[in-house]
Amino acid sequence: MDSSKTSRRDVLFSAAASALIGVAARAASPAPVAATAPADAAGAFALPPLPYADNALDPVISAHTIGFHYGKHHKAYVDNLNKAVAGTPFADMGLSQIITSTYGKADQTALYNNAAQAWNHTFYWNSLRKGGGGEPPAALRQKIEADFGSVENCKKELAAAAAGQFGSGWAWLVQDGGKLLVTKTANADSPLIKGQRPLLTIDVWEHAYYLDYQNLRASYVAAVLDKLINWGFAADNLG
Ligand code: MN
Repeated sequence: MDSSKTSRRDVLFSAAASALIGVAARAASPAPVAATAPADAAGAFALPPLPYADNALDPVISAHTIGFHYGKHHKAYVDNLNKAVAGTPFADMGLSQIITSTYGKADQTALYNNAAQAWNHTFYWNSLRKGGGGEPPAALRQKIEADFGSVENCKKELAAAAAGQFGSGWAWLVQDGGKLLVTKTANADSPLIKGQRPLLTIDVWEHAYYLDYQNLRASYVAAVLDKLINWGFAADNLG
């Protein structure tokens, strides 16, 4: 693995968010990369460590689910991203730049999908925490109350977006200009392609919940919102 490239590219989110996924220290001292260095075919992008143990979210999300979701699905997106990016002009871009640069390009679909899924999943793991739910930090709560009326209404909108996403996708709390919005995206799509700033997300692909909840997506989403959602992460992502 070319660790110098990884250091530079792992700056996925804001500094605060990066600290949560443990990359701030590496990002703070990027090593120069030779302009002539060949694209690293294997391991240019790293699978970030989970921000908690694989059983930390149990029983809302079991270690069994995390084992497949992180260890198989997320890993596969990162592995396929590294294959798709090798030898292309996108090899020296950061993830979010790859996402916005490849969106809508018919010949870059695999790269876009895997880059967006790699980004979305790291963001999802950080959107959850053991002992989550409850009340958002004051600065975020005030914004939520201004734009949704109450935290309860915001959670209802998130639950409705998650339930209303037909097929695979994501429910998001985003900042769009000065306002907070709930939105949903299909498949790998990211709010980044709409110029929105993601604050938190809930994965509603079946692989996120089927082992624990079978077809009951609404039960999974309700439990996540009540018991796992990481409002502190969302507050740290405010622009
Ligand atoms: Mn997923």
